[in-house]
Amino acid sequence: MIDNRSGKGLSFVRRIYLPRTIGMGIGLFSVMAALAPLQPPTWVWLLMLFNGLAWPHLAYQWAIRSPAPYRAEQRNLLLDSLSGGFWAAAIHFNPLPTVTILSMMTMNNVAAGGKRMVLRGLLAQLTGMLLAMALFGPGLQLQATALQVYACLPMLTLYPLALGWVCYQLAIKLADHKRRLSALSRTDSLTGLLNHGSWKDLLLLRFQICHQQQAPAVIALIDIDHFKTINDTFGHVVGDCVLRQLSHELKRVLRDDDLAGRYGGDEFCLILPATDQDQAGVAMERLREQVSAYRNPQLPELRISLSIGLSAYHPGLKTPEQWLEDADKALYTAKHQGRNQVNVARNEAGPLKLAYPD
Ligand code: GH3
Ligand code: MG
Repeated sequence: MIDNRSGKGLSFVRRIYLPRTIGMGIGLFSVMAALAPLQPPTWVWLLMLFNGLAWPHLAYQWAIRSPAPYRAEQRNLLLDSLSGGFWAAAIHFNPLPTVTILSMMTMNNVAAGGKRMVLRGLLAQLTGMLLAMALFGPGLQLQATALQVYACLPMLTLYPLALGWVCYQLAIKLADHKRRLSALSRTDSLTGLLNHGSWKDLLLLRFQICHQQQAPAVIALIDIDHFKTINDTFGHVVGDCVLRQLSHELKRVLRDDDLAGRYGGDEFCLILPATDQDQAGVAMERLREQVSAYRNPQLPELRISLSIGLSAYHPGLKTPEQWLEDADKALYTAKHQGRNQVNVARNEAGPLKLAYPD
């Protein structure tokens, strides 16, 4: 079943469930120890047990079943604060349990909703205090017994641990989302190759490496011949499949270090590092032949051919744009000379050759 409430705070509700269950469960000890000497009526004990043991589960169920779980969970957090204030006044503001309960709840509110939630939480705490004072009368108990101090220790140690753990998990999840978003922003959605922008960033990097180290590299621009006719004859869906098919082929034939991108439309772009002009020529010729030999049994008339312009790095190049322009001119010449061919940009300096060990 698809949950159409996802994105409305279900994960927020799930995230708060564990810290609330732990916090309320162990917060119970501090309130019990501080309340016992005041000998409250039975209903107060029952209310305290309900609040400490049953409320976290009830709050969870209430929020996940709500049409707006995020808002429901914020209401639950305010009810937490209200009950915190209530118990603080009920134990006559016994300092250690009071500070423990109220500060832990405030910490929860900061983590859940920042300044706004803290302010609303403080108001809820105040309301809870007024309610308890109206029921039990005002009182002040400034002395804490050893038992009351010890009863606060689980809350003081375990609750920050639980909240810290939840925050850590959230940080890991966010980092993962960030990584995935960043990868998506660099990827062409149709083909899964690099998109225009990120390929050009890598071209600049490669140009700088070639320039500094006088290392050979080749770039290639690949354009599908008469792609408009393919779209017009077989439809855009087939056109898209051809684009995807070509990107698969590129991934298959290229080495791990080669960088393939979709320049736009039916044009693809490659950076082939540590490759000289001859090697790139052979590799691209093989690609061209493979693609032109491709036949689809369902579409026997479909023919795909490629025009490819190559440009090898040479020291006469001043900018990566110049390098790209050379490849573009070579591609234009390949188109002009009849398509379905590889054309290499010529330059006066001559391309760099790969140095092979003797
Ligand atoms: P040429 O041999 O001169 O390259 O001719 P061509 O028909 O391939 O001309 P051109 O490269 O200018 O045409 C590109 C066409 O690609 C035009 C556009 O409709 C089509 N196109 C661009 N992006 C997409 C896409 O994502 N999917 C599909 N199916 N078609 C696209
Ligand atoms: Mg084309």
